[in-house]
Formats: sequence, structure tokens, C-alpha cells
Amino acid sequence: MTVAKPSSRTLARAAALLARGRLVAFPTETVYGLGAAADDARAVLALYAAKGRPRFNPLIAHVADVAAARRLVRFDARAEILAKAFWPGPLTLVLPRAAGGAVCALARANLDTLGVRVPDHAVALALLRRFGRAIVAPSANRSGRLSPTTAQAVQFGLGARVDLVVEGGPCRVGLESTIVDLSTAQATLLREGGIAHAAIEALIGKLAQSGSAIKAPGMLASHYAPRARLRLDAKDARSGEAYLGFGALPKLANDIPALSLSPTRDLAQAAHNLFGYLQTLDRAHVQCIAVAPIPATGLGAAIRDRLARAAAPR
Ligand code: AMP
Ligand code: MG
Repeated sequence: MTVAKPSSRTLARAAALLARGRLVAFPTETVYGLGAAADDARAVLALYAAKGRPRFNPLIAHVADVAAARRLVRFDARAEILAKAFWPGPLTLVLPRAAGGAVCALARANLDTLGVRVPDHAVALALLRRFGRAIVAPSANRSGRLSPTTAQAVQFGLGARVDLVVEGGPCRVGLESTIVDLSTAQATLLREGGIAHAAIEALIGKLAQSGSAIKAPGMLASHYAPRARLRLDAKDARSGEAYLGFGALPKLANDIPALSLSPTRDLAQAAHNLFGYLQTLDRAHVQCIAVAPIPATGLGAAIRDRLARAAAPR
């Protein structure tokens, strides 16, 4: 595996690898994605294998712009409004797939719907334009583990399973996209993420909460898991634990590794730091990471969602 700065030479190489059915990790504003050509079933199969991801779990197609999205899915009025407001950005729209759309059945888990988004990252967009086809890009980590927000974390988690990692610094948002299902009359929130659901509801009205949607890893009870156990809504840490705070850190014993997601209680900063800080504390080889209470407002809903899954029994 090679890690390379995003020069035009690197992007050319990345596009060539994708065209040959190989896997390329690249930065987006949410987390690093593990990319494969969306229309190449063999490449997509290799992607599921590299992640150890169950194949019933559909992938999100990343495209460079709305025009490219229209070739893959059928837009309705709600999709027009949301794409206009939030693309490029951390919002995935699930829509009926377009006849002749190029995403292979394996990537869609055989569904007649498809999740699409336009990422808000210069490197991701440059790669998409250069490649000229849709790229499926789930988070560049082994299924069930923490999502990577740096190239180093990709390297650490996937090693030789990925051919090339395009380096793009830390991801701005730090959480996966919000997913909204528009394939039915009632719009449904499938996953909390980088765009607060209230901002979406302000434009298209109340979202239903996904009840028994597709059982996908991001929706399984246990996901995003560090090696250590997690103890949530903790006001402090006991001996043998690490502490992940929010706001000023409480007084803790000297031997307790501790970080604050945001000393100023800024939820965007906390989201940005979440996966990286969990990884750092996990490397201290504690048995348990105690995590401060996070407010459920705005981006806090997505942060709490990831923490709950990371804490779930495995
Ligand atoms: P990620 O693992 O971040 O790549 O996100 C993929 C997630 O998007 C899946 O786990 C599903 O929850 C969701 N998703 C993708 N495509 C569809 C679809 N056609 N219908 C419903 N959910 C989908
Ligand atoms: Mg993931």
C-alpha cells in the first residue's frame, strides 16, 4: 500500500487503479472512503472483502455533481430541494434507481433504490471528475471498527488491503453522512450524520424515523467499535479507564488518559475529533473508555448514535 499526496500524478494513478478494479482510499469531508468503481462487480466484491462487510449492506455511490447523480437515480421535488441545499455535502439521498444506471447490483445489494451523494472535498471531487464514473466509497476501515478520519488511520486499519491511500489531512466533519430515504412517499431518516436532521426537516417537513430499515452495519447495534469497552454518560473515570470528555475535563487521577472532544462544548468540533480521539485513547490499552454526556441537539444526535453503537454489546 502506498500513501501519496494528492498531486495530479497521484490522482491519475488513483483513477487508473480504479479503472483496473483496484481499491483506492481517499479523503472526503465526512471520513476517508474506500473507493471502488461502482459499475465493476469484481471491484465491488473486492471492496466488500477488504472491509469484511456483509454483502447485504448496500454502498453509497459518490458522484461529482447533480448531473451525474441524475444518471443513477430518479429525482423528485424533495430530492431537488435537498440536493440544492446540501450538495456538495454530508447528505446521502436514497432514491429509486434510474433505468440503465451504471451501479452494479452487488453494490446496491440488489435493491431498486440507490444511495447517492456529492462529497464536499476538493480531493474527492477531483478524483471523481478524473475517473468520470461513480465511485462507491464506504468508510475505509474494517467493518464494525472506528471510521478513519486521517490517512494514517486508514493505513493502520486496512494495511495491504488497499492499493493506494490519497492523503488529504484530517476530515473536516468527522462523521458519516446523514442518510435520508426518499424512495417512499414519507421521507425517512435512515442515519443521523454530518447534517443535523432539523436542517433537513426545515426544508421538506418531518422525517419518519427508520424502524426496520435495511440491516446495514452502520445500523447494527454494534458498530464503530474500539477495542476497549465504552461507558457512556460518565461524569468521571475510574482506575483502569480512559476519559473522553466534552467541555472542561473533570479532576481525574494522574494515570487516567483523558481528552476533551471540545473544551468549548462545540458539537462540530466534537464530531471532528470523535473517531480520532477514540482511537488515541484505545491505543492506551485501557479496558474501558468512559465518555462524557453529549447533548442530543444538532450534530450531537449523530455523535450519540455513533457512541451508542460503539458501546453496544459485541
Ligand atoms: P456507509 O457504510 O457509510 O457507506 O453507508 C452505507 C449505508 O447507506 C448502508 O449501511 C445503508 O444504511 C445505507 N444505504 C445505502 N444504500 C441504501 C439503499 N438503497 N437503501 C437503504 N439504505 C441504503
Ligand atoms: Mg462505515
